[in-house]
Amino acid sequence: MKSEKIHQSAFVLDSHCDTPIRLLNGASLSERGAEGHFDFIRMKEGGLNAAFFAIYTPNTLEPDAATRRAMQMVARTYDAVEANSDSVAVALSADDARENFENDKASIFLGMENGDPIQKDLSLLRLFYDMGVRYMTLTHARNNEICDSCAPKEKRWNGLSPFGLEVVKEMNRLGMLIDVSHISDEAFWDVIKNSDSPVVATHSCCRAIANHPRNLTDEMIIAIAKTGGVVQINFYPPFLNSDYAEKFWPLCDKFEEVEKLWKESPEKFQTQYDAAKAEMEALERPSYKEIVDHIDHVVKLVGPMHAGIGTDFDGIEVTPAGMEGVDKLPLITEELMVRGYNEDDIKMILGENFLRLLE
Ligand SMILES: [Zn+2]
Repeated sequence: MKSEKIHQSAFVLDSHCDTPIRLLNGASLSERGAEGHFDFIRMKEGGLNAAFFAIYTPNTLEPDAATRRAMQMVARTYDAVEANSDSVAVALSADDARENFENDKASIFLGMENGDPIQKDLSLLRLFYDMGVRYMTLTHARNNEICDSCAPKEKRWNGLSPFGLEVVKEMNRLGMLIDVSHISDEAFWDVIKNSDSPVVATHSCCRAIANHPRNLTDEMIIAIAKTGGVVQINFYPPFLNSDYAEKFWPLCDKFEEVEKLWKESPEKFQTQYDAAKAEMEALERPSYKEIVDHIDHVVKLVGPMHAGIGTDFDGIEVTPAGMEGVDKLPLITEELMVRGYNEDDIKMILGENFLRLLE
């Protein structure tokens, strides 16, 4: 069978998409956007049937501000879906998503990236579950009240905090998936030890291929599989390829510095902003085929039941070459076919694995 046919008949799910950031800035998803990686038109073109919108808050916000921002992102997501109700619907379960699929509608799920918005209050966790949030990434780039992040050198808890342990238990009870992307290695192992339910990495690559603390070691991938969970491969080029990362990080740091100034006074710093952005984008990017290298690695370690995709679209400054937006997703299916994957395995990787966890 042709790869397009398989892609069209498969249930394709992206477990991590940062589009709500753009919704906060007033973006419309009804038209094909010149900016960003995702809109509902390209979602259909790419044969993507479900996307988890990340309710992302940076760790730098005060607790009330984090809660407020998260609620706004949930609300904007509901608004965006409602404005496109002929073609898109919110999904709260695998059944919802399959029903939407039958009715030729795409599904939007909610996931929360960083647990700061629940503050130190399990009833807020419950409230976000009731609003539709179906997974939570415990932290982001800093240590928080729940656990340590993989990013800072100095750790606060050396794993999960005592409150984090309660969060894990409550998420298990609610049926909210625990996402281990972004957390420290110690926190990862604490989650594995204490969770009664399958654990997921919604947007993480393999450390054996690209050595970065955001990526998972082989032992971690095996441990996730043992819980029955899945590793959803991230599309961010520096997580896919170490050689690229080495050249990319300094340019990215420089860009972020200029971006800060530019946000304060756009006119004054426009030229510098454009130059820094152009320099970052001029670096030759790894091919989208390297995404499949990481999928391959997971499959070789633990089999096709434990791999998937979590694009990180709209949360990344650059994309792999050939994978500039969600409309390009059929290329992943094509590459899996080239590498000899059969139809059943491809369908598992594209979405069935994650749906199984939601069931
Ligand atoms: Zn992330």
